[in-house]
Amino acid sequence: MGGPEIERLIALLSKLPGLGPRSARRAALKLLQQPEARMLPLAGALSEAARAVKPCSRCGNLDSRDPCTICTDPHRDPTTICVVEGVGDLWALERAHVHRGLYHVLGGTLSALSGTGPEDLNISPLLARLREGGVTEVILALGATVDGATTTHWLTEKLKPLGVTVSRVGQGMPIGGALDVLDDGTLAAALRARRPVGAG
Ligand SMILES: [Zn+2]
Repeated sequence: MGGPEIERLIALLSKLPGLGPRSARRAALKLLQQPEARMLPLAGALSEAARAVKPCSRCGNLDSRDPCTICTDPHRDPTTICVVEGVGDLWALERAHVHRGLYHVLGGTLSALSGTGPEDLNISPLLARLREGGVTEVILALGATVDGATTTHWLTEKLKPLGVTVSRVGQGMPIGGALDVLDDGTLAAALRARRPVGAG
């Protein structure tokens, strides 16, 4: 069509979520037609973000600071940690302004099907944070999928002996739905309706 550079650009863009080959071609054309206004700033932002942004060593959030902006924010409640599957869920909860405590990003859920075990997730650092003391409640905000439920159950057993209240988000999480796709009102309701997980 117009040389290997264009083909490569389209191929890379089409791998992004929400962009199929057709929209990748349109995006590539837009960029190529406005190199100064669009393409070079985007290239700069990409390489800058790739260089600067890393997972927070404490909570797993993505940030250019380590510990991240949330972990070091003195206005947040350090006694409550909300456990989420991915950074997308953290972003969704932050957008909805429903949680004023800290977070912990697991990086997935336990899954027999895909062979994801506890050692594959960001669990040991969570246990270490709790053993440091100061945390009184852990809110498990994992999706209502089978794997989400399995992970919630497994973590509850693991966390309770550490002397913290373990709650899980209330109804309002659609089956199989990721937090990321819920609207702010639903998220707020689900978090407000959290309840401690019963003994045993
Ligand atoms: Zn952090």
